[in-house]
Amino acid sequence: MSYYSIAIDGPAGAGKSTIAKSLANKLGFIYVDTGAMYRAISLYFIRNNIDALDTKSIKEACKDIDITIEYKNGEQIVLLNKENVNSFIRTEAIGKMASTTSAYSDVRIKLLELQRNLAKTSNVIMDGRDIGTCVLPNANLKIYLTASVEERALRRYNELKTKNIECNLEQIMKDIEDRDYADMNRDMSPLKQSEDAILIDSSTMTIYEVVDKIIELTTF
Ligand code: C5P
Repeated sequence: MSYYSIAIDGPAGAGKSTIAKSLANKLGFIYVDTGAMYRAISLYFIRNNIDALDTKSIKEACKDIDITIEYKNGEQIVLLNKENVNSFIRTEAIGKMASTTSAYSDVRIKLLELQRNLAKTSNVIMDGRDIGTCVLPNANLKIYLTASVEERALRRYNELKTKNIECNLEQIMKDIEDRDYADMNRDMSPLKQSEDAILIDSSTMTIYEVVDKIIELTTF
């Protein structure tokens, strides 16, 4: 039996996970958040005081890292050496660590098979940076979701403000630009729009409009 797969790639803060979650809910698909897997590996490096630029230690550490995925009530749980780490991986520090260490082949190879296997056993909506170009080159539908850097920074700023977290719009914008640059300019699996992906710029669209547009594009 073959399963339907939707790949959503795009830069940080474009709304990929919100949209992918909503789509998964509506379509009854599994949502695979690949960024969470890179974040979980980064948590291991941080906990073990491994520097993001120490490629030798990172290579060694990769041998001790086991990442698995479970689903509970439709939510993806990332297990790092059997520990549920979902509540530890959403920090800015982990995001930055993930952005640097995801450029290393030892890290990427570790996750590739896991990601591909998930798409072999379920209908999936998988989001990340290299899903359409590398992980699922034969995905049934590929979306490249983006928004202007100003809009992405503003959304992040508003989200943090709602949570009463102190933040600075200029700094958020700079962090986003740095992350985009690193993700787009690395040698291995850089972020880019796959030739057969459909571009959606969500700068002036609501979440519902983007979700509806993607549902219209499905071919089942
Ligand atoms: O999407 P999220 O912000 O959680 O991803 C964290 C980092 O993980 C990204 O900045 C990117 O460097 C890396 N990543 C990746 N490939 C993916 C998903 C995430 O390189 N498929």
